[in-house]
Amino acid sequence: MSGLAMPKPDDATMRRRDEIVADMRIIVPGEGVVDAANSMRAFESDGLTAYRQLPLVVVLPETVAQVSRVLKYCNDRNIRVVPRGSGTSLSGGALPLEDAVLLVMSRFNRILEIDFPDRIVVAQPGVTNLGITTAVEQEGFYYAPDPSSQIACSIGGNVAENSGGVHCLKYGLTANNVLGIEMVLMNGEVVRLGGSHLDCEGYDLLGVMTGSEGLLGVVTEVTVRILKKPETARALLIGFSTSEQGGQCVADIIGAGIIPGGMEMMDRPAIHAAEDFVHAGYPLDVEALLIVELDGPGVEVDHLIGLVEAIAYRNGSTTCRISQSEQERLSFWAGRKAAFPAVGRISPDYYCMDGTIPRKELPHVLAGMRELSEKYGLGVANVFHAGDGNLHPLILYDANVPGELDKAESFGADILRLCVKAGGVLTGEHGVGVEKRDLMPEMFNQIDLDQQMRVKCAFDPNHLLNPGKVFPQLRRCAELGRMHVHRGQVAFPDIPRF
Ligand SMILES: Cc1cc2nc3c(=O)[nH]c(=O)nc-3n(C[C@H](O)[C@H](O)[C@H](O)COP(=O)(O)OP(=O)(O)OC[C@H]3O[C@@H](n4cnc5c(N)ncnc54)[C@H](O)[C@@H]3O)c2cc1C
Repeated sequence: MSGLAMPKPDDATMRRRDEIVADMRIIVPGEGVVDAANSMRAFESDGLTAYRQLPLVVVLPETVAQVSRVLKYCNDRNIRVVPRGSGTSLSGGALPLEDAVLLVMSRFNRILEIDFPDRIVVAQPGVTNLGITTAVEQEGFYYAPDPSSQIACSIGGNVAENSGGVHCLKYGLTANNVLGIEMVLMNGEVVRLGGSHLDCEGYDLLGVMTGSEGLLGVVTEVTVRILKKPETARALLIGFSTSEQGGQCVADIIGAGIIPGGMEMMDRPAIHAAEDFVHAGYPLDVEALLIVELDGPGVEVDHLIGLVEAIAYRNGSTTCRISQSEQERLSFWAGRKAAFPAVGRISPDYYCMDGTIPRKELPHVLAGMRELSEKYGLGVANVFHAGDGNLHPLILYDANVPGELDKAESFGADILRLCVKAGGVLTGEHGVGVEKRDLMPEMFNQIDLDQQMRVKCAFDPNHLLNPGKVFPQLRRCAELGRMHVHRGQVAFPDIPRF
């Protein structure tokens, strides 16, 4: 894995590989253990495909008891474990380690309970995000958080990443829609947090788990809230001749107290790529295109459409179309939903970043991004969850040109620094993983990072669950006292600092 420092593989674990594989076969009999190199290739990376690594062994448990036994076995023998759902993470959270068991949760694929009166679904973690909506849509319900990867990503992975999507502006992220989980700690203990009721007892450990990127425990069951589908949904397609106008329009819509069901923006390169790909009817003479969807009772939607149209006009919109049918609404979204693969057609490779800024900083950050694009000599197409201030710049590069991946990574890091400087944060929904790990000190000082690490230590004191992710330094829990450097001798010199 070029350029990415990961924890040094543990020699003792590597030497015992055959024994570990044999023991895994006893715990998970049948076809639940994959150890041949060519079969493990399918698991060597996640959605951040720039990095690849074969794991020690792949284990696909089917029951909570098996998960518990695998984790306890590994904990007792100091073996690292990387949890994995569907492997769509864009930040390398599910990237395997050479000396770690890759614990794949995809066989946990059943819906356990649907309770329409209480509006909840209990699902195993390997059920896809879309699978939950599919299970309840015949009764007019749906699960609101809708990552673009929803056809493939698992609900367990959504909890681990606190995933979002177009609908999250109005209906909240995964954190706002998960009511309870069952999880297994690294020592094998099975714990339940929350449930079908609205609040967790005690400390909000459910909140701690949501977005914990597989570092604290393995989720084995998820209870989510489902919502009734809105009576009406209509969308506006609004074009602007500058992205500053588009950004200001977004700020004004929210400022007017309107919370759309979705509000997404694309810049010129993304508009052109999407239009060439799906022929959604997008205007090609604009610099910024805004899709605003309003949902709810028909009368309310009609009223809000009028307000949004007026705000767009005041901000200098050059074109504004309002969907007149469900088919037209879907066609407005078709280009946005296909924006990532569309950009994949105009560049051999792209690197998808994920940062969040205060909405009002959008024009300033976009201008900064343009300067960076010139500095690095690489193109960038922008697709954003504009209402949330969540940016997804797609940096265009060619992995076959020596040095271009490094350039794309430096460009991406500078974009995230720009977001933090503008009062934003390093990630919106894709997580830190390995991708943004080394940028954590841009946002947190050592005291902040130590405090976060203490939470990790409370769950996993031996630091065996998904090490090398999120934290820029691998530190023993015992080291979390004040760092004492004696005559230039750093404590625990054997622990890698990356
Ligand atoms: C084309 C594309 C579009 C995307 N669009 C979006 C989007 O709109 N919004 C968004 O938020 N994300 C998006 N993503 C990112 C990704 O789909 C999400 O992060 C998703 O939640 C990952 O789920 P997964 O099952 O694939 O998890 P994985 O990739 O397998 O794992 C992700 C992380 O979760 C941990 N994990 C997985 N399962 C468990 C478990 N059961 N218990 C504990 N930890 C676990 C892993 O260790 C890892 O750290 C997109 C990805 C792609 C490829």
